[in-house]
Amino acid sequence: MDILVTGGCGFIGSHVAERFYKEGHNVFIIDNLTSGLRSNINFKHKFYEMAVEDMRCEDIFCINKFNVVVHLAAQTSVPASFENPYKDTVSNVTGLINMLSLSERYGVKRFIFISSAAVYGDPDQLPTDEDTETNPMAPYGISKLVGEMYCHKWHEIYGLSTVCLRLSNAYGPRQAAKGEGGVVSVFMKQILDGQSLTVYGDGKQTRDFIYVEDIADAVYRCVESGFCGVMNLSANTEISINDLIDTLAHRADIKEALHKEKRSGDISRSSMDNSRIKRELNWLPKYNFEEGLQKTFDWYASIYKKQEKETEASKKSETTKPRSKLADYAIPFVESLLGFIAVIFIERLFNRGDHFFIDLKLLYIILMGIAYGTKHSIMAVALSSSLFIISNAGYGRDLISLFYDPNSLLHIAYYLFAGFSVGYTIDMKNRKVKSQDLKIEATEEKLEFVTKVYDETRIVKNELQKQIMASQDSFGKIYSIIKELDTFEPEDVFSSAVQVMEKILKVNSIAIHVMSRNGLFARLVANSGSLSWHISKSMKVEDSPALKYIMESKEIFVNKKLDPSLPIMMAPITDNGKTVAIISILELDFDNINLYYQNLFKVASDMISSSLSKAHRYQEATNDSRYISGTAILNRDSFEKLLHGKMQTKEKEMANYVLLCVNAADPADNLEHRISNTIRDRDYIGLGKDNRLYILLSNTSEKEAGAVTKRLTDKGISTSIPAGADLIA
Ligand code: UDP
Repeated sequence: MDILVTGGCGFIGSHVAERFYKEGHNVFIIDNLTSGLRSNINFKHKFYEMAVEDMRCEDIFCINKFNVVVHLAAQTSVPASFENPYKDTVSNVTGLINMLSLSERYGVKRFIFISSAAVYGDPDQLPTDEDTETNPMAPYGISKLVGEMYCHKWHEIYGLSTVCLRLSNAYGPRQAAKGEGGVVSVFMKQILDGQSLTVYGDGKQTRDFIYVEDIADAVYRCVESGFCGVMNLSANTEISINDLIDTLAHRADIKEALHKEKRSGDISRSSMDNSRIKRELNWLPKYNFEEGLQKTFDWYASIYKKQEKETEASKKSETTKPRSKLADYAIPFVESLLGFIAVIFIERLFNRGDHFFIDLKLLYIILMGIAYGTKHSIMAVALSSSLFIISNAGYGRDLISLFYDPNSLLHIAYYLFAGFSVGYTIDMKNRKVKSQDLKIEATEEKLEFVTKVYDETRIVKNELQKQIMASQDSFGKIYSIIKELDTFEPEDVFSSAVQVMEKILKVNSIAIHVMSRNGLFARLVANSGSLSWHISKSMKVEDSPALKYIMESKEIFVNKKLDPSLPIMMAPITDNGKTVAIISILELDFDNINLYYQNLFKVASDMISSSLSKAHRYQEATNDSRYISGTAILNRDSFEKLLHGKMQTKEKEMANYVLLCVNAADPADNLEHRISNTIRDRDYIGLGKDNRLYILLSNTSEKEAGAVTKRLTDKGISTSIPAGADLIA
């Protein structure tokens, strides 16, 4: 099943979502991440970051087909609901209405709403059962109660299967210690931080604590149950805050409990009767308080350890990072300096400075430019020029005179030119490389995005394909329906046509009338088995304007005025341009009287027309082999086939027939002409296995057959009803 969990990244939502995933369902999550965390979900799911009150949620319902919606997304803080009742209402009432309406509109089968014990306020009776008067004390409780009313109404008005679970105090892993967090998570954090516990009031106030996995189990069981209404979801226990501290003290060192003033609006006692949910869902809380608390404590402890490790690691990386940055910055300078020292050393070694076969200073400038660009090549120019001036001064020349020496100036200009041109070229190249890198990065990001969109689209496409293949209108189904019309027996075409129409149009009120040869009457040949509507066995064209219209126009007739004496729709079945039968829908939901349905009816009747034409063509071509030559008597094989078809149709209650045995010793004594003149268009004369002559009266009951037998007797033809058709077929 496809399950949508709103608020699925939150404390309770993530456990509920995980439970459905583990049971093999497809999980979809809508969460605006105001309090939920993506990291709470570590399994395959489809995530939509959106607030439940957002109208764009319709798109999500549109592209998916949710079977179940578990609505958990809510503003969950009681104090926040006092501070900003408007925000509380938007999230808890508008959000719920949005989800409820979309669920109803998009065919969701089950809607589970997570309500709260807050709807009871501070009840006198403990444990509180579902019939206790509601009296919410905070906007939060009011909005939950309003939500329950909406769920109830949506069930009443639209038949949406809704259930509301009034939750007592939930606790367990992933509960935040701030905001929505409850006392258990706050205490866990205080213990692990080595702080004192803050107790509001004397600590004697009680709560009905329920472990989160028990909640997820109950929500899961709700899907299978057909129960609609409200149920308490609690452990039915009453535990004081002092008891909680005692239990925790067995597991951890508690510094001390600091008592503060009682919180305003805090109720003194809470305990909720859970017999209804136990009975309806066959559910029991699996964890007692000690077990649940131990599991919760272990989880918080593991998270703290992990966090400590992470902080240590990040501290370490913080100290190493600047060092590597510093190294990045310093290395070029060190290399430049070493290079310069090497130049001095080599020149001193050979003692020939500028008369060396290659100008080492120039080489040094070029290398620095190639390695690090303009900045370092210019620095190399400065160092090399200084070295050049100092070395030349060393050869006994006056330092000032060197600046007037065009040769020296040329040398320095020569260094500058080399430093600038190499550095600039390398800078340009680096800039280009960097911009290419940025472009590649941007392209990779784009590719990642497009791949994500592609993957999502593919998932939606596959889903749609699955839906199409599973739906009644799938190609596979239509093919199998059309296959039923694949027969060469016109009589079979009619009975198959009824079934085809029933399947395609999803109705149970089809009737087919065949036109008499003279075109004045239409006689019933097949109809839906379960038809309760009165069907005329025979219709006179003259008396029926609808029939006349069809005969003339060869168009579909739609009973727009909803005249109760007429079918809702009628369509002609044509063969070679001639109306040979009429197919009628006698009863139809008002919603289906639309253009789409008319078109579907037209397509289906055209299909039947073409099947019938094909069967007629086949019959015409094979007439010689079907009839005893020169007569209208069907031979043994053909009669047997016809009779089989009729028997099957009768079994399905789609058309009746009567078989008469002609009491004549010799079937060849020219009875055939007399019989043919007495029977109707769609009645048959045939030769049985026993070599006797039989008359098959189509669409006739035994009672109605009396009139025919009387007419036959009047013509001197004696008939009787044989003991069993199987004797001759
Ligand atoms: N509480 C407490 N110290 C805290 C948090 C809560 O003593 O740090 C008390 C609080 O005053 C209340 C009880 O624990 O009486 C349960 O509080 P919580 O907020 O978990 O649930 P709620 O009051 O909504 O039932």
